[in-house]
Amino acid sequence: LGGNGSNAVTPRFQPGQIAPLQRSETASEIQVVYQHRFTLVDDAETSYQPVCQEKRVVTQKLVPKVGVMLVGLTGNNGSTFVAGILANKHKVSWETRTGTKSPNFFGSFSQSATARVGFKRDEKTGAFSDVHKPISEILPMARPVDFVMGGWDMSGVNMYQACKRAQVLEPTLLDQLKPELERIIPLPAALNPDFIAGNQTDRVDNVLSGTDRELIEQLRSDIRAMKTLVDKVVVLWTANTEKCLKPEIETVEDLQERIREGKALPASVLYCVAAIEEQVLFINGSPQNTFHPAVIEYARQHGSLLAGSDFKSGQTRFKTVMGDFLIGSGIRISACASYNHLGNNDGRNLQDPMCFDSKKNSKSGVLNDAIRSNAILYPEGKDHIDHEVVIKYVPAVGDSKRALDEYTSDIFMNGRNTISSYNVCEDSLLAAPIMIDLVVLGELLSRIKVDGNSLGPLLSYLSFFLKAPDTNQPNYVVNSFTRQRQILTSLLMVAAGIIPDDGTLLFAHF
Ligand code: NAD
Repeated sequence: LGGNGSNAVTPRFQPGQIAPLQRSETASEIQVVYQHRFTLVDDAETSYQPVCQEKRVVTQKLVPKVGVMLVGLTGNNGSTFVAGILANKHKVSWETRTGTKSPNFFGSFSQSATARVGFKRDEKTGAFSDVHKPISEILPMARPVDFVMGGWDMSGVNMYQACKRAQVLEPTLLDQLKPELERIIPLPAALNPDFIAGNQTDRVDNVLSGTDRELIEQLRSDIRAMKTLVDKVVVLWTANTEKCLKPEIETVEDLQERIREGKALPASVLYCVAAIEEQVLFINGSPQNTFHPAVIEYARQHGSLLAGSDFKSGQTRFKTVMGDFLIGSGIRISACASYNHLGNNDGRNLQDPMCFDSKKNSKSGVLNDAIRSNAILYPEGKDHIDHEVVIKYVPAVGDSKRALDEYTSDIFMNGRNTISSYNVCEDSLLAAPIMIDLVVLGELLSRIKVDGNSLGPLLSYLSFFLKAPDTNQPNYVVNSFTRQRQILTSLLMVAAGIIPDDGTLLFAHF
């Protein structure tokens, strides 16, 4: 945009001006040449070098039919995901004691959020206003109601029984979907019980047997069967949180030897290897360290994509908003004490101290980038806060998780500021829309190339949905809510040929 000094906007570029973005489109692709601008700071952090890199971003337009294979299909998240999508697909309404309800996709960024794509100017008054567009309209994306859904579970109940067991959705809704839900039966699971809590054994009645290689081959054959029904398959782990395997597997040779010798790898690694070998996107919705360095390298070698780890749904998302608010305002958070109790099977599994450790680690790092961003509040040696995470299993509350957080901060003249929050919410109703986003946007990102390269092996751009984002630059992880959302939205806009705003509003003022 070029201003002419009278608050008018010249939408076209004048001779001699450089278009910071050029867009062209064919029947199959959107092609964008974009001038990516940022600042490089020297080691002493005293000089600022403006940089402009030309990037070519190409997006395949054809939206494939997507097959979603959930690991943990009949768990609370899995069943809520499937029944919620079917309710939307068939536009089923249901009665509750507070009236008739109809389905929606609230809580899903891709289905229910918007992005500010630019400004509009009223010709008569000259006044500017923002223009917002639904995220789903920025680029061609799969629709969740078109998903073909299936997957594996170590518990063999059908989907109707699973939804009843989860106690998340109303019976007046489930009864209308009953025939379709009853037809959805989980495939037998690959399971290594050593990596989940001992209290899960009463659930296990639907498992494969064999060596690790045989299990991987069976999972690959299941994925291939789904491939015959759809154009693209996505595998999403929403099964129990596993214990972390330590030390990590460093090399592909070591990984392959462990598979050959049947050294009892965690099930999540077996599913992930099967997905990598079938070149389908694998998303890890739980906190365990499935993405060992060897696994990431194996994905790179196969040109496969990974995204993880651990859905960022309620408490953690709120925490990263509080980090933006408090530290971003120049207030020093000195302690964050988080307590949860929940009564679903996830809570039961997390009673095992080793499974809880995976979750605790994933929840504990989320304020790190906010702390590192401010050396005034957190000078070296004082760059940590008291951060505690407690999770308790209270069966009576079922899926309705309680999250109590207390943020203690230091304010002006050593005053103290304490903010407490108390959140009550069906855990699976928060997680299912995030699962939808990970599939819809993960599939979209698999169609985007920058300078001819895929965005993998790790789809870092999905960090917005993940508590402990795995990124291609492991030393550069963004947890801030605002930044994660901006990074993802800006990428989508650039790929669509819309320049993300630099935020100065200069044109409107001068
Ligand atoms: P859940 O216990 O209800 O469901 C997990 C399912 O996985 C169960 O049905 C179980 O039988 C199955 N399973 C376990 N091991 C398996 C294997 N090897 N193969 C196939 N199936 C297997 O739990 P949930 O509430 O649905 O949560 C699922 C995961 O998502 C958990 O790890 C949880 O920590 C994670 N998570 C949930 C949320 C949320 O808000 N609900 C947020 C972040 C992460």
